[in-house]
Amino acid sequence: MESPALMLSLMFCALLVAGLITRTVLASRQIRHVARHRATVPAAFAQTITPEAHQKAADYTITKARFGLLDTALEAAMLLGWTLLGGLDWLNQTLLAALGGGMVQQLSLLAAFSLIGGLVGLPLAWWSTFRIEERFGFNKMTLSLWLGDLFKGALVGALVGLPIAALVLWLMGAAGASWWVWAWGVWMAFNLLALVLYPTVIAPLFNKFEPLQDETLKTRVNALMQRCGFAAKGLFVMDGSKRSAHANAYFTGFGAAKRVVFFDTLLQQLNPAEIDAVLAHELGHYKRRHILKRIVLMFALSLLGFALLGWVSGQNWFYTGLGVMPSLDAPNNALALLLFMMVVPLFTYFLSPLMARMSRSHEFEADAYAMAQTNGQDLASALLKLYKDNASTLTPDPVFARFYYSHPPASERIARLRAAGTPA
Ligand SMILES: [Zn+2]
Repeated sequence: MESPALMLSLMFCALLVAGLITRTVLASRQIRHVARHRATVPAAFAQTITPEAHQKAADYTITKARFGLLDTALEAAMLLGWTLLGGLDWLNQTLLAALGGGMVQQLSLLAAFSLIGGLVGLPLAWWSTFRIEERFGFNKMTLSLWLGDLFKGALVGALVGLPIAALVLWLMGAAGASWWVWAWGVWMAFNLLALVLYPTVIAPLFNKFEPLQDETLKTRVNALMQRCGFAAKGLFVMDGSKRSAHANAYFTGFGAAKRVVFFDTLLQQLNPAEIDAVLAHELGHYKRRHILKRIVLMFALSLLGFALLGWVSGQNWFYTGLGVMPSLDAPNNALALLLFMMVVPLFTYFLSPLMARMSRSHEFEADAYAMAQTNGQDLASALLKLYKDNASTLTPDPVFARFYYSHPPASERIARLRAAGTPA
């Protein structure tokens, strides 16, 4: 093996091991910390959270963290199997022998890779829904609904993914050295289109969306949106209870096509003032331009990613260093895409604390906005109900939370909301 390839192999292994160790250490910390605080409800929540609810949250958190470790181990094994142990090379050679080199072979490689990955992950996905979520009373899915989702998901994935993949592969072969700029443009256009099509075309395949009927709530929500200078094209209720007892509310779409979606579970759990406060928090994300900032960041990072892909896909060591022999007389573009998608997360994992930190500061800003537009005490009580109903732990390990949490721990968020509500 030439030396850049060897360097890449070594770096790949080092990152894989470093990631495994970091994940294991963090998960163990979280499990130990939550278990240690399982017996007593933190003083700040003693009035509102029962010991039973606190213990359920602890058990749920610990079970999920343990399951996460199993998932991490399987993913690492798969990654190694695909790359240095020769899985992807074997699949590529087999398809080359059967189909010859060309667009059909490349698309088949992408499809077979996704299919195998999906099938291997299936038992864990089943376990997560029908063992873990079920045990804690969250799962509302039947096996046939779960299988139906799986089938629809795969179908949508193929119908949307294959044409995009074909276009990108074609650009890689036909657009010369700067193909990656064009491919980036296609990818961005696709993402913007998805923002429009997801709420109106894709999401209704999986859930029912009905206009909000409750007149009192409608008046209230419309008044809030007017006060905040926010135009949306409708208020919808989604039958989230069909799948899970977890509750949520969100905005989708952009421009004039924005809609507000409430999970039916949220409307059951919160009173109108609390729903108002939660919605004001979501509006805060729009008003403080968090959504726009995220989209711009995604644009910039993916341009960087495509530039990098443009460079490495032309280097022999990129393939051999990751356990694949590039073909001399057929395009290797699908191989390059797959290897790149597998390797990049090894690097970006170590950026997650930065991303999580940005997200947490956005959450505080949205809370502040909600406090200014509605009542901070309503938001605090809504959050507490949601924490309780979702069995989120109130006592996460501080290091684990700093590394992963996209939302500030309940104690910090609620302390701020309560402090603002108390006259000095
Ligand atoms: Zn938020």
